[in-house]
Amino acid sequence: MEKTRYSGRPTIGEVNLRALEFNYRQIQKRLPEEAKLLAVVKADAYGHGAVPVSRTLEKLGVEYLGVAIPEEGVELRRGGIKTPILVLGGIFEGEVDPFFRFHLTPVLFRKDSLKLLSREAEKRKKKIKVHLKVDTGMGRLGVPFSLWGDFLKEVIRFPNIEIEGLLSHFSMMDEERRYTHNQWKTFQKAVRLAHKMGISCPYLHMASSAILTTIPAYAGTLARPGIMLYGAYPSSIFRDLIPLKPVMTLKTRIHFLKLVPPGTRISYGGTFTTKRESLIATLPIGYADGYSRHLSNHGEVLIHGKRAPVVGRVCMDFTTVDVTDIPRVSIGDEVILMGRQGKDQISAEEIAEKINSISYEVLCLIGKRVPRVYKN
Ligand SMILES: *Cc1c(COP(=O)(O)O)cnc(C)c1O
Repeated sequence: MEKTRYSGRPTIGEVNLRALEFNYRQIQKRLPEEAKLLAVVKADAYGHGAVPVSRTLEKLGVEYLGVAIPEEGVELRRGGIKTPILVLGGIFEGEVDPFFRFHLTPVLFRKDSLKLLSREAEKRKKKIKVHLKVDTGMGRLGVPFSLWGDFLKEVIRFPNIEIEGLLSHFSMMDEERRYTHNQWKTFQKAVRLAHKMGISCPYLHMASSAILTTIPAYAGTLARPGIMLYGAYPSSIFRDLIPLKPVMTLKTRIHFLKLVPPGTRISYGGTFTTKRESLIATLPIGYADGYSRHLSNHGEVLIHGKRAPVVGRVCMDFTTVDVTDIPRVSIGDEVILMGRQGKDQISAEEIAEKINSISYEVLCLIGKRVPRVYKN
């Protein structure tokens, strides 16, 4: 599956598809019996490579795949993926063609998309499946609950639009159970209203990783995990609730090594000055690869199973670390920026906390310049 790579820079994102399978099964085990899985593979499967990840999930029998934008769905179809694909972000600029041409299912919440979809379906003498989204408190996408009945009335006027699913989205991870509960109740009301209007559909879905871990009953008939499939957690408080294996290891090798006297400034702006004679290693990875500049004088990496601190500013293409306290380090030694080495591990959540972000962003940041290498 791996394309020919030049034996150049050793910076890679190693993707362990067995770990993906492990996480998939862990999530599956916790779901109520009636719930199927929609695996969210948007943003290039959170940086892991959408096509290889989706192929693995397809083999595991996943019910549905979820992407954010139509282009991502098209990429999967071109990669040979046959599983139904839901485009969570809806239809942009009235662009309905790819939904028909590539068999993508849109999430609908705008009335203007309805007529366009219906007209195109008529032209092609086809029906199109859609999922309708109601806003129950996230405040981002979805028909406001007060307009939900009105929206449904519009939708059922179009005979070639087939309602296959109803969905909403939770906004709280674990912050406020009452809010989450109210969102669930509103969703139930929205579903009942649809039933009263004669709409019944197989997929009712609302829960992403966080809620399906804490309150599996809120998974409805289709759970929508993303982050946990990749072995990361919505935040560290979820770590004890479900065992997961990180899928991505971000690694490189030492590119340059030098012994410098005390008082030597390291990297741009001279923000770090050695206090002792120091062994400084230069790593061929920088913020252009998604190794955040916020890790300047702050991050840590693993070398020989031990932690080495990032010293000085992270540059676009290089990062400097202090390896004085690690015995027998040489050029070419393996460096783990995220992942396990020996007994220690640097998780996406650990990096996230250091850069004041979330594991999601840490994974998505890993750039195009870093080849993904697949392991199974
Ligand atoms: C991204 C996304 C998900 C997956 O969320 P995770 O927290 O990664 O599990 C589910 N539903 C929608 C609508 C999303 O946008």
